Parts: sequence; structure tokens; C-alpha cells
Amino acid sequence: MNDGAFDFSAYPHRHLLGIEGLSPVALSLILDRADSFVELNRRHENKLAILSGRTVMNLFFEDSTRTRTSFELAGNRLGADVINMSVSTSSIKKGETVVDTAMTLNAMHPDVLVVRHNDAGAVKLLAEKVNCAVINAGDGRHEHPTQALLDALTIRRRKGKIQGLTVAICGDILHSRVARSNIHLLNAMGARVRLIAPKTLIPANIERLGVEVFYDMQAGLKDCDIVMMLRLQTERMSGSFFPSIREYFHFFGLDYAKLEKAKPDALIMHPGPMNRGVEIASDVADDIGRSAIREQVEMGVAVRMACLEVLCANLALEGA
Ligand code: ASP
Repeated sequence: MNDGAFDFSAYPHRHLLGIEGLSPVALSLILDRADSFVELNRRHENKLAILSGRTVMNLFFEDSTRTRTSFELAGNRLGADVINMSVSTSSIKKGETVVDTAMTLNAMHPDVLVVRHNDAGAVKLLAEKVNCAVINAGDGRHEHPTQALLDALTIRRRKGKIQGLTVAICGDILHSRVARSNIHLLNAMGARVRLIAPKTLIPANIERLGVEVFYDMQAGLKDCDIVMMLRLQTERMSGSFFPSIREYFHFFGLDYAKLEKAKPDALIMHPGPMNRGVEIASDVADDIGRSAIREQVEMGVAVRMACLEVLCANLALEGA
């Protein structure tokens, strides 16, 4: 299937643990390859044998619906054997550590471990202990690289480019791994990144990552090409970060009145799951002309296929 059109050596890494540090060439390789899978995924006959004989294990220490399903579908489409493990309900309850669990699974010789964990850094730690490739499917507030890649593919397909666009990431930046991965990717690809949130939900010194910070939606959204909304992650909050949901929506929820400040063709995005009426009004989220939220889910499968293929191609080069 890869008829030489894609040079996988442009991604010279064993794992995909984060976007930080990846080159534009490596990122473009994954995006280009993912793009080539989109049409195929829309066809009835969409199975390939690229990963036949490979085993992908989904190891989720934290709940997930779309990411886990998306990786499962991606692995299946490429002909891999895919196994799902939800660890929060099994061995961890019996006191097994992350590393113990990973070592146990490693002994079953998977080729790729797809790991989600609620602690930042846990996936990297695990990657150091196993001899297969590891994909970070979200670690605490740290990174969620495949989300940023699928967001980038969605933007690139709708706008024809990423370079030079102004992207506003709005809402609970403090608790968001999606925001962090997107900041790294968008900066690497030459976009201008703005963050919009109440002061309590902006991490200290975030400007160091090369972003502009706004505490006012109207000012921050002015002339933006992309409006990326984030979920209010109450499960990660200890204490009170805003007076009430009603007030939060009033100042920071995306509705048509605030959207008017952005460019007329600005694209609306959200990684899901959405809190309708909290960070985004339902009619805006469902606006077929402007919202790319469903497309993001579709791009997720294509991006994860590309990631699995690239990492397995690198394993093959090592003779594994
Ligand atoms: N699904 C994304 C994540 O896992 C965003 C969210 O949960 O709000 O980080």
C-alpha cells in the first residue's frame, strides 16, 4: 500500500509520547499519510493488510470512549489484532503498579501499546520499561498527541494550510492535555496561537510556549480563523475556579454573539466530549456549515492508522 510515496524515515522515533520536540517534517509525514486514508475509510471495502501479524494493545487506565474506539478501528482497518484492556477495573485495584501492568503485557509481545493514564509522565515511564512501541493516548494534563494531529488534519483539509492561521484555544487550558499538544503542533507548523480563558484557568508562564493570552472572549476571538473550544474538566478541579456555570457560559461559552468577532468563515472545533450550554451553545456546536466537530472524530481514525503504520514500519526496520 505504501508504494514509496511516504518516507517513514521522516519519523525517526520509536514511540509517540508527545508533540513537543517533533519536527514539522515528522508531523507532515503523519498528516499526509492520514490524509491518504480518509477516502479509503469512507468506502465500504476499507480493510487493508498493512499491519497483518501485528498486535496492538489498548491499555486505558482512565475512561475513554472515542479515543479507545478510534484506535481499535484504526488497528482493525490495517489488519492488526487489537486487544482492549481497561485497567482501572482490574489489576490496578489489586494494587499492581503501572510498570507491573506494562511488564505483564510486554511479556505477551505486543507490537504497539496505546496507553492512557491520569498522571502526566506515566506513559513515558512505561515506555522506558517495555520493548514495543508506545503511543500516548493522553497522560494527565500533559499531552494527547493524536488529538492534536487529528485537529491539524481537520484544519488542513478545511483551510488548505495551517501556516499563518490564527487559532484561538478557549476554555479550561489549565487542565487540558489537548491544549498543550495543540500549542506545540500549531507553533511547529507556523500558526499563531491565542489562548482565551479566565485567569484561574490559565497556567502560569504559559506565554513561554509562544502563545498570546486573552482573558476576554470578544478580544481574543477577533479575526480568528479557528475557534477551538475545550471541555471544562471538573474532574481535574480541586477547589473553585469560576463562580458558576451560568457565569462561565456568559463570559466564556461560545455562542453566535461572541463568534461574530471571529472571521466569517471561522471553523468551530471541540475535542469532545462536549458540555453543551457550558463551554459551547448547542446551536453553534451543531452548525453544519461552521462546526467541524464530527469531522474531527472521523479524522481521528485516519490519524491513528497513520501513527500505527509509521511506528510499525520503524519496528520492521529494527527487525522487530
Ligand atoms: N477527550 C479529550 C481528552 O481526553 C478532551 C476531554 O476529555 O475534554 O483529553
